[in-house]
Amino acid sequence: MAAASMGYEVIVFCQQENEPAAQVCHRVVTGAWDDREAIDRFASQCDVISLEFENIPSPTIADCARHAATHPHANVLAIVQDRLLEKGTLSDAGLPVTPFAPVDSRESAVEAAESLGWPMIIKTCRSGYDGKGQFQVGGEADLQPSDFADGGRWIAEKRIDFDREISVVVARTVSGQVQTFPIFENQHRNHILDVTTTPAAVSEQLAERARQVAIETAEVLDAVGLLCVEMFVCDEQVMINEVAPRPHNSGHLTIEACHTSQFEQQVRAICNLPLGRTDLVCGGAAMANLLGDLWSADGDPPDWTQALEVDPVRLHLYGKRLAKPGRKMGHLTALGDTPESVAERVRAARSRLQH
Ligand code: ADP
Ligand code: MG
Repeated sequence: MAAASMGYEVIVFCQQENEPAAQVCHRVVTGAWDDREAIDRFASQCDVISLEFENIPSPTIADCARHAATHPHANVLAIVQDRLLEKGTLSDAGLPVTPFAPVDSRESAVEAAESLGWPMIIKTCRSGYDGKGQFQVGGEADLQPSDFADGGRWIAEKRIDFDREISVVVARTVSGQVQTFPIFENQHRNHILDVTTTPAAVSEQLAERARQVAIETAEVLDAVGLLCVEMFVCDEQVMINEVAPRPHNSGHLTIEACHTSQFEQQVRAICNLPLGRTDLVCGGAAMANLLGDLWSADGDPPDWTQALEVDPVRLHLYGKRLAKPGRKMGHLTALGDTPESVAERVRAARSRLQH
């Protein structure tokens, strides 16, 4: 939608007809990620290609790049698709990441705890999201031999007793210009992002450090387009949790809250246009996610008028067909004088939607 409003024609590649992006673009090509014919048909119609989902197989993106400039490139995906490779790459470059170790068995997890300390969070290296594929272990007794039975790759991380979670979305153009958004502060519920506010309640010094870490991360990965760097704040230090090379849920409030939205910034970055101003148009902004739990068991949506009566609150729905518990279906945004007051407003609006 951001690209269309700037005069670009948009073609979407997706796996099924009528996926959210396909509902609002000029042309659609559907196919599986490994459907070479469909990918060629799609990419040969493009001048520049980007993505909004980082688990697209990196060979698919490499295939796209044979036809048109593709940002981010396949190497970035290959790194961020594997938590060990991601953390290893960033820590080798001197960036601060949560302490971690590779694990593949009960014994190696016990060994990892000797250096990391209990409690730990153990995550699958690949394809986890919204807390899926993760478990916490408080001590040796919590580890079952079956935990690692599938033979996959796992990473153990020290469980960080953080003061807050923040994210920094940085845009980087083809020619290397960079620009960050204001710092977002994120509250999770059941490991799923629940509410984002901005500006984050951190010192200017910490905000500057967080922006520097995000920019350096984009440069180390040579990522073009958007990169979201999720961080933990602990004793006035930042530590990278994970990165995503695409528009991020925590950046959705930029649609209303910033002079340039993350989506427009992504278009500018991949088309090598000057990046837009990212400062806030208000004192504070907040976003509350709308999960599938708000829908009835029969799949009926809640009565949106209830939330919209809390004025001014903006409603965004993504056009996902099927509502499932824990699935992100949309969000509410509010702007105002302070992040605290608007966070209260989006929460109040959302609580009116409970069945
Ligand atoms: P994903 O978002 O892909 O599910 P994350 O690694 O971001 O995976 O984990 C989801 C959430 O779980 C984080 O936002 C954070 O709240 C919590 N979490 C993850 N890793 C740690 C950690 N090492 N210490 C403390 N909390 C963590
Ligand atoms: Mg995350």
